Amino acid sequence: MSHSPDTSSTPGAPAPGDPVPPGASPAQPRPASSAVLKGQPALVTGANSGIGRAVALSLARAGADVVVNYVTDPDAAEQVAGEIRNLGRRALTCRADVSKEDEVEAMFAQAVETFGTLHIVVCNAGLQRDAPFHEMSLSQWNTVIGVNLTGQFLCARSAVREFARRGVDEHVSAAAGKIIHMSSVHEMIPWAGHANYAASKGGVMMLMRSLAQEVAPLRIRVNAIAPGAIRTPINTAAWQTPEAYAELMKLVPYKRIGEPDDIGRAAVWLASDASDYVTGTSLFVDGGMTLFPGFSSGG
Ligand code: NAD
Repeated sequence: MSHSPDTSSTPGAPAPGDPVPPGASPAQPRPASSAVLKGQPALVTGANSGIGRAVALSLARAGADVVVNYVTDPDAAEQVAGEIRNLGRRALTCRADVSKEDEVEAMFAQAVETFGTLHIVVCNAGLQRDAPFHEMSLSQWNTVIGVNLTGQFLCARSAVREFARRGVDEHVSAAAGKIIHMSSVHEMIPWAGHANYAASKGGVMMLMRSLAQEVAPLRIRVNAIAPGAIRTPINTAAWQTPEAYAELMKLVPYKRIGEPDDIGRAAVWLASDASDYVTGTSLFVDGGMTLFPGFSSGG
């Protein structure tokens, strides 16, 4: 393969007046501003608690109107919606169990009816039902797979249908839509006593990558965030006492627990055109938890 000398100032960029080559971007990524997500309605599942709440508020701060999904505790959902409205954005609270097909489809229909379309879907809802493997009930297994994996499938499928229906609106974003799966470091790190949870997150990782490959030609970007230990109700036992926190820090080279806003900022980046060429990636936000910290003193 021969290479001709590159005479443009930006390598690979066409000179002004050059014809647009086949397959070139129909739209250039929008420049960053404080409202990078303006005009891009978002839906966040499990948005009345922890990481989902922080993601919903971060997206709103970046300009998005937000559908706040919840399944229990409507008051908490209304509180998040109120905070979003105080930021000057629109908010819709919507009850749906993400593991139920009819409820997910009704939620997306209501979201599109209210906001016209969706550009960003964050499949965040998740739970744990921990047990030693030999004692794990089928119900514990099915509940975790149903919410953490099937729930992400159902929401991503509805998102793809809406993004494909609308197509790229280059005044809003270079992509037709962005899906962000909330995975975990346990898509990679095995977790004794939590086989159902680790299996669900490993499944999310391959769901995300297969879907990203399939819908990239539609200009739909699909990525995951893989959080490490984040201070939320799901893992209170791991950080609430000084002893537990000290134990946890043995697993975190960066020597602090993650805060929900750490994930919120990552979600804004993945949802924005700043990451327009990023698809099929797990973004680990984990203070180094996946760096095999046990080997930091020689192994
Ligand atoms: P959380 O318990 O505060 O939030 C989970 C949310 O999911 C809640 O709003 C809950 O009501 C909702 N939910 C549960 N089942 C649902 C269902 N069937 N339908 C709709 N919503 C449902 O915990 P979190 O830490 O904020 O967890 C959010 C996501 O982040 C989960 O997917 C979790 O696996 C993932 N995660 C969390 C951590 C962490 O350290 N906190 C680490 C890695 C991954």
